[in-house]
Amino acid sequence: MLGIYVHVPFCSSRCSYCDFATNVYDEDLVRRYVVALGGELEAAALYVGEARADTLYLGGGTPPVLGAEGLGRILTAAANHFPVAPGAEVTCEANPETLSPEILDALAAAGVNRLSLGMQTFDAATLTILGRRHEPTEAEDAYWRARAKGFDNVSLDMMYGLPGQERRGWAADLRRALALKPEHVSIYALTLEADVELFRERAAYVFPGDDEQAAMYYDALELLAAGGLVQYEISNFARPGRECRHNLKYWRDEEYLGFGPSAASHWRRGRYRNPRELDEYFAEAATGRWPLANPEPSDPYREMRTAAVLGLRLTAGLDAAAFEERTGVNPKVYYKNELAELAGTGLVTVDGDNVRLSRRGLFLSDEVFSRLI
Ligand code: SF4
Repeated sequence: MLGIYVHVPFCSSRCSYCDFATNVYDEDLVRRYVVALGGELEAAALYVGEARADTLYLGGGTPPVLGAEGLGRILTAAANHFPVAPGAEVTCEANPETLSPEILDALAAAGVNRLSLGMQTFDAATLTILGRRHEPTEAEDAYWRARAKGFDNVSLDMMYGLPGQERRGWAADLRRALALKPEHVSIYALTLEADVELFRERAAYVFPGDDEQAAMYYDALELLAAGGLVQYEISNFARPGRECRHNLKYWRDEEYLGFGPSAASHWRRGRYRNPRELDEYFAEAATGRWPLANPEPSDPYREMRTAAVLGLRLTAGLDAAAFEERTGVNPKVYYKNELAELAGTGLVTVDGDNVRLSRRGLFLSDEVFSRLI
């Protein structure tokens, strides 16, 4: 069954480090976006035909800024075109300050059964530097409100490598997150693109260096494991059975359709991406020439390399025989020289048919992937 992703490119304001495809909320833009999205869903349903979804993921941006009505419309439109199977995982990303009781009710009524909450840190001063709009205690209150409304599958996003952050502070953040007993935690290192506000202001802050960031990553592996969360991907940790089923589709090379600006699709061994910016997305909507119906010629080897790199993100690694059955290429043969070198430097382990990142390779995965893509 398919995974469906809907990108909601709106936030209440722009965080200082953000380089995502998102815009500050504007009623007129939202109205045009909802219309364009409806057209895109309709066109894709005609092209793909009857298909059911077992995961639906509303990401952003900050989907709850659309309000209860907007959220309901989008989720209904997606489910009308791609019916959601019983037992499907339906996720909505949210920031703590957006989770009012009304929004939580609307999400529950629309079938959302998993929340992904952008906590990032519990340090109030750092939240201000990051341009986040919530206070640490507000984030905890939002979490408990969601629990009280019956949400029993909640993921928390946490960040390290933040301005002024030290290992002790990061460990304290993780302990405070674990005290909430979430089903899932994702950890991300702060990376600053040259066009974001915090990059321009970076001289005003002290950032942890590479070695300290590596130590923070390894600290997280220990702390989260001790808290009962099993690492299943470079940045993702879950209680057994609570891994994000939607994101697993990306890493397991399964099929998914993405809607909205910057959303990506993987269907019938082709990969497609919508334009990143909202105005380009509107232009595409006006012509009706969606990427899914007008694919670029695909390169099977590039497709295979992408699948290999995505699969290696999982801590279980790649099964060479299963990968060969699926793609016609045995990664141990295709990457013979690269794997020998990466194993020699301790970044990858090869054990029979299993190829996976070592503990060090998990932290230095970009280095590994640049050799394989
Ligand atoms: S809430 Fe997320 S998507 Fe929105 S501006 Fe902040 S970091 Fe970017």
